Amino acid sequence: MNLENKLAKSQKAFESWKTVPFSEKQKLLLKLTDLLDKDAEKFGKIITQEMNKPITQSISEVKKCALMTRYYAEAENILKPEKIKTEFRVSEIHSVPKGVILGVMPWNFPFWQALRFAVPAILAGNTVVLKHASICFGSGNMLEKLFLKAGFPKGVFQNLEIGHAEVKAVLENPVIQAVSLTGSEKAGAEVASIAGKNIKKSLLELGGSDAFIVLDDADFKKAAESGAKARLQNCGQACNAGKRFIIQKNVEKEFLPMFIKEYQKYIPGNPMKKETLIGGMARPDLADELEKQYKKALKYGAEIILPLERISKNEFMPGLIKVKAGNPILQEELFGPLGMVMIAKNDKEALKLANDIPFGLSNSVWTKDKKRQQLFIDQLESGTVSLNKESSSDPRLPFGGAKSSGYGTELSLHALKEFINVKTIVGN
Ligand code: NDP
Repeated sequence: MNLENKLAKSQKAFESWKTVPFSEKQKLLLKLTDLLDKDAEKFGKIITQEMNKPITQSISEVKKCALMTRYYAEAENILKPEKIKTEFRVSEIHSVPKGVILGVMPWNFPFWQALRFAVPAILAGNTVVLKHASICFGSGNMLEKLFLKAGFPKGVFQNLEIGHAEVKAVLENPVIQAVSLTGSEKAGAEVASIAGKNIKKSLLELGGSDAFIVLDDADFKKAAESGAKARLQNCGQACNAGKRFIIQKNVEKEFLPMFIKEYQKYIPGNPMKKETLIGGMARPDLADELEKQYKKALKYGAEIILPLERISKNEFMPGLIKVKAGNPILQEELFGPLGMVMIAKNDKEALKLANDIPFGLSNSVWTKDKKRQQLFIDQLESGTVSLNKESSSDPRLPFGGAKSSGYGTELSLHALKEFINVKTIVGN
């Protein structure tokens, strides 16, 4: 089917899908949940084959998708008409779905990113067309099959199999009402400007360079384990990965060796084997880019703690560097197995270093002291602040960025309202 026909099919599906009661839509989501749970291993293999994620992490990704679809299958209907008290006979707020929504999605969590966007949009009454990353068409096609198998009407979720050069034409097509993009700042800025020119809403979930702050009263053992995982799971290719480890100076000697020991457990292996903790990066060009950034960091004075060693076209022995404020690498996202360590005298300096970057997605702070926690809760410039845990998204909680990390909210009940129009009904 050509692109034009696929878009027409989505529009046609929308006309009837928007009239299906919320609770009926939820029943289909429960079926989708069962399908994801039942064949998590099979879908995990598709993910691993496409982008090298270790198989246990791919299966966990699919299971997490099932948690999310179940969350929405059981969620409160916050979209039902709301009555407001006024002097008029009728005054109500209705939440009306927008129509066909385009999702431009990346390769790092091929099932999760696409479903995280699509499920609340569809439950709100919209239909969805997916432009998945070019290396993830297998995942995209499987998702389309799963929606159909769960009983969603044809056209509610379609995978487009197009390259990024075709996104502009799709977004400009009058059928498309809004777009959600997860990916780089460059892609986000281009897509949002096309949406803006066409007066269409956009939601952007972009990069991050989140801080993982370890203060002197932290549980060092837990922080060391969690920090290594935060940086290196999915081969460091997560927007909300801990990327800058800001350690309080008086505990550097105690904490850093513990952290390094945990870090060195991540030795690249065959991603299809269950014992593998880290595989290769998703594409060789992404590995080239990381190597360039490593060289740049060193050129501007970063010190090597563990060298970033390239052992094949897309595999590295993970690297760790010590970076001082002012190094231009701090203004960039390192999307791979390379961590940065920074040293801060005290809480105030840790906070300043944490905030001194263009991004603000999901910082994490480690201290047992509630007063110290409060300073970071109040002043960290990010969409999420995690306390004594690595940052990770949770279907029940909102997820989104501040500053150049993007705008709009995914997950939680908030996401149900991202792609609706508010319609006011008032009079006698
Ligand atoms: P991109 O941002 O290029 O890719 C993400 C999605 O956007 C893909 O579907 C891609 O399609 C599409 N896309 C790319 N350029 C455009 C464009 N001009 N117009 C419309 N759609 C576009 O990420 P990369 O794969 O190149 O990775 C580069 C960097 O982006 C990473 O190193 C990382 O810093 C960041 N990134 C962040 C992610 C996150 O989770 N926030 C996820 C992935 C990357 P196609 O595959 O066809 O190019």
